[in-house]
Amino acid sequence: MSTTTPSSVLEAEHREIAAAFTAFVHRELVPLAAELPEDGGMPPAELRAYVRRRSAKLGFYSGDHPEELGGSGMPFSAVVMLHHAAGRSGCPLAPYALAGSDGPSPLLRQGTEQQIEQYLKPLVRGEATRCLALTEPNAGSDALHLTTTARRDADGGDWVLSGRKTFVSNAGHADFVIVVARAVDGDGKDGGPTAFVMGMDVPRLRIGQRYEGMSGEELYELVLDEVRLPAGAVIGGEAGVGAALGNGIDSLSRGRLVVAAMCNGIAEYALELGVAYARERKAFGERIGAYQHVQEHLVSSRAEVEAAKLLTLACARLVDDGVEAPENAALAKLTSSETAVRVVDRALQVHGATGWVRGHPLEFLYRYVRMMTIIEGTSEIQKVIVARAMGLG
Ligand SMILES: Cc1cc2nc3c(=O)[nH]c(=O)nc-3n(C[C@H](O)[C@H](O)[C@H](O)COP(=O)(O)OP(=O)(O)OC[C@H]3O[C@@H](n4cnc5c(N)ncnc54)[C@H](O)[C@@H]3O)c2cc1C
Repeated sequence: MSTTTPSSVLEAEHREIAAAFTAFVHRELVPLAAELPEDGGMPPAELRAYVRRRSAKLGFYSGDHPEELGGSGMPFSAVVMLHHAAGRSGCPLAPYALAGSDGPSPLLRQGTEQQIEQYLKPLVRGEATRCLALTEPNAGSDALHLTTTARRDADGGDWVLSGRKTFVSNAGHADFVIVVARAVDGDGKDGGPTAFVMGMDVPRLRIGQRYEGMSGEELYELVLDEVRLPAGAVIGGEAGVGAALGNGIDSLSRGRLVVAAMCNGIAEYALELGVAYARERKAFGERIGAYQHVQEHLVSSRAEVEAAKLLTLACARLVDDGVEAPENAALAKLTSSETAVRVVDRALQVHGATGWVRGHPLEFLYRYVRMMTIIEGTSEIQKVIVARAMGLG
């Protein structure tokens, strides 16, 4: 494909840093990925830790965090381009080179000085990982319908957390966990959703069921059986009680744009595979790319990927300009994740049985990309956000 595409206009500003990241992926991560099992399960934890630390050393991991926290102070739009480049590389280790759902949580940016030192800085440096326990068996999309409670002792001191969390990524390897629970004060008054941070080794917190995802992801159930925490475990201290919703809005928007960018990169990679195959493979005496039904798969994909990419890059640029509207991120995440699912499906179709066989990159991507319309809020929930912003419902 031509390198002068409409999206290259928006890419120009951060092209060099994205090119440096891509060079790192090809130089250092692609050879390591060659050792991974062909069916594309999750890489071993030690390898993920190595990739994270190496990338942090080179200044890519946690790119948008300020230098005083150990980051590189990049604009958010540069970070979005790195996530695009990770998806585009086709290297299964590349996503672990960039901070994601196990990395520095924007919630911790609202933390007290002590929380920033103890939790945020090691995450930014890639030395520690965390998990976020928000979803519950009966509170998924409706995430604030929480039944996990944090009851405050009558003397206003310690908190006692009880409940079950489910589908928590990285809980089996994390150093600490952020738990969102409903605060209840001494006289039973509901103080609202509140984020707590604690080590994974805190007494009476245990891992329950383990779930394995379609492409080898490990998710876990977490059981909080009267976990006792000091007042200092509330993220942001006293001001953080009941503030998880307010503090979470911006972080969700950024997380959604990062997922959108990764999806666009994956879609571009899948499209490239589809185009290359259609140019080579012959059927009925012709290259299959000459057939209009095959062109339809590839040209529609090209149009949709370019549109999703432009939307995502534009929304990221707006974040750098101080505009962090949740509906923008919702539009980008909805468009990019749905596009990536379609494009991977079409690219596999163009490959026929070749793409369907275990070990082919498209076979893995077909399973991997499917989670993208569910994580960070389902497609339907992105539509709910946009509908509300349009004054509907
Ligand atoms: C790979 C992966 C990683 C995850 N990691 C984490 C994690 O680290 N921490 C964590 O806390 N959670 C995590 N989750 C859970 C994830 O956040 C939830 O799966 C997601 O919020 C959806 O909730 P649910 O699965 O309970 O679906 P439900 O909320 O039960 O939704 C079922 C269906 O109903 C639709 N629906 C629900 N409400 C509405 C509505 N108002 N309007 C229209 N449609 C609606 C949904 O879109 C969906 O199609 C992870 C999930 C996956 C797949």
